[in-house]
Amino acid sequence: MGSDSTIARDDRLDDGSGSTEPEPAVETARRQLQRAAAHLDIDPNVVERLKYPTTVQEVTVPVERDDGTVEMFTGYRAQHDSVRGPYKGGLRYQPDVTRDECVGLAMWMTWKCAVMDLPFGGAKGGIAVDPKALSDAERERLTRRFAEEIRDVIGPNRDIPAPDMGTDPQTMAWLMDAYSMQQGETVPGVVTGKPPVVGGSEGREAAPGRSVAIVTREVVDYYGRDLTDTTVAIQGYGSVGANAARQLDDWGVTVVAVSDVEGAIYDPAGLDPASIPSHDEEPGAVTRQDVPESLTNAELLELDVDVLVPAAVGNVLTADNAHAVDADIVVEGANGPITAAADEILEERGIPVIPDIIANAGGVTVSYFEWLQDINRRSWSLERVNDELETEMLAAWRDICDAYEARDVTWRDATYIVALSRVAEAHGARGLWP
Ligand code: GLU
Repeated sequence: MGSDSTIARDDRLDDGSGSTEPEPAVETARRQLQRAAAHLDIDPNVVERLKYPTTVQEVTVPVERDDGTVEMFTGYRAQHDSVRGPYKGGLRYQPDVTRDECVGLAMWMTWKCAVMDLPFGGAKGGIAVDPKALSDAERERLTRRFAEEIRDVIGPNRDIPAPDMGTDPQTMAWLMDAYSMQQGETVPGVVTGKPPVVGGSEGREAAPGRSVAIVTREVVDYYGRDLTDTTVAIQGYGSVGANAARQLDDWGVTVVAVSDVEGAIYDPAGLDPASIPSHDEEPGAVTRQDVPESLTNAELLELDVDVLVPAAVGNVLTADNAHAVDADIVVEGANGPITAAADEILEERGIPVIPDIIANAGGVTVSYFEWLQDINRRSWSLERVNDELETEMLAAWRDICDAYEARDVTWRDATYIVALSRVAEAHGARGLWP
């Protein structure tokens, strides 16, 4: 499998320069912005502004290892746009995190929050580190020191980090504690995705997978199909993939294949996702299941299914394998699983692609609910969280369908058009100052 550090890592896009360098995430994000802008009558100066982040913090994070040596790590916090509200976005711990990746992912957060009509802008951060190579105590020291380094640029009304790849609710609890200790008061709203015991929301961890399932249900219905006659293959069985698989299975979908980093399992009669532990619950459990067939991750992507959900990492569908996709619909569970070149191939082949910025937006939507609960110091029931998530997802989906039907565009363009119109309108209303 690829890595999500760049959007076109495996692609060799012909940019006319003869270069075979992969396209960085930020370039893909800019290109998507330009494409959506071409459909809208908006101020070109606003579009130009949106191609750049407001600011990017780059910090060195010294960490004392358990053996007493001190190692330096590089961390980033990219803040793209805050015209609609505080910056919002995840924090990832991955060896190949780069500044440009954070900027590209921060731009996607701006659109993700806007398409969901949340009062947030977009940010993303990360540390170039392999979290599995650190002990719990080392990860804690890393997180607390990083919190200290970025303390001036985060805050409940400024920029609110959340979990992403390689980070989890415990990471957020450490970050919140470090920030709060320096502020002299408990500030739960400085991060989301915390454990519920310190102000986290019920349903937050399952939310990205839940929204993938909701969007899959809606797009299947849009194309006039019945959920109970639908087959789905899901690449990645972490939080997003497993929660999506279980919810879809509950609704009567036949989940024929799932995978983790070690490989894929396939049963044309349908797997039982409820009985398969996720990668987070029990690493390696997927390939230990007693099922009719084992596949590689690459083979899973080429299965003849109704819906393919790449929910593992970025850049898994590239110019090399997009022609072999045999699904009728693709729903992006991970952030950026399809490279720009693969996207074009799928478009030419007439395969609808529902983009990540709507499909996995349940995560940031329940982050917003968590932020509201933290401000009010009052927690919501799981039932309320899930009901309100359903309402928000359906509202966003309807807006996207309207844009899709009003213009001859792809689902990705329709989604970007909804998001960009809102961001551009807010820029127009606020103006440029000083
Ligand atoms: N990291 C998640 C995402 O990419 C969630 C961000 C958040 O909740 O702020 O959408």
